[in-house]
Amino acid sequence: MKSMKSPRSSRLPDPAAILRREALEEVRAIYRELENRPVERNCLRRTECCQFKLTGRTPQLTKGEALLAARAVRAAGRKEMPERTDGACPLLRENGACLIYQDRPFGCRTHFCAAAGGPYARSEVVDLIRRLEAIDTRLSGDGPRALPVAVRDELRLMERGG
Ligand code: SF4
Repeated sequence: MKSMKSPRSSRLPDPAAILRREALEEVRAIYRELENRPVERNCLRRTECCQFKLTGRTPQLTKGEALLAARAVRAAGRKEMPERTDGACPLLRENGACLIYQDRPFGCRTHFCAAAGGPYARSEVVDLIRRLEAIDTRLSGDGPRALPVAVRDELRLMERGG
């Protein structure tokens, strides 16, 4: 039997796609707001904070951040999370550059190494953290998750058309 889908119904907006698009816009707005905060730091891209095994710290991503990071990975021409076996961030390239620097997660923007001025105090950015958590809730996320797993899972969802 032929499909009964009308041309009109195929043009209806997809609520899930709208929700994701709005979430991405808000995450980007939060990152811009963070950049405009008068907190002095001087990141020289030494990538010290990208060495998770050495620092013992892994950025935790809310779902909106993971979604934006996964989109950036796709835009960089990759469908899967790169493999890394040395305990560094999988998005750290061999040449020392971040694969998704413009869309790097909140933790990468606030947890500076000592040479760059040290991490932001939570009180300096807690309002932005709350907004990221609210986006996570709207997207039915499970709260912050470790970067490698959070981005990998978003990439897999995108691969399945999610
Ligand atoms: S996402 Fe980029 S900036 Fe953040 S830890 Fe990974 S390589 Fe470093």
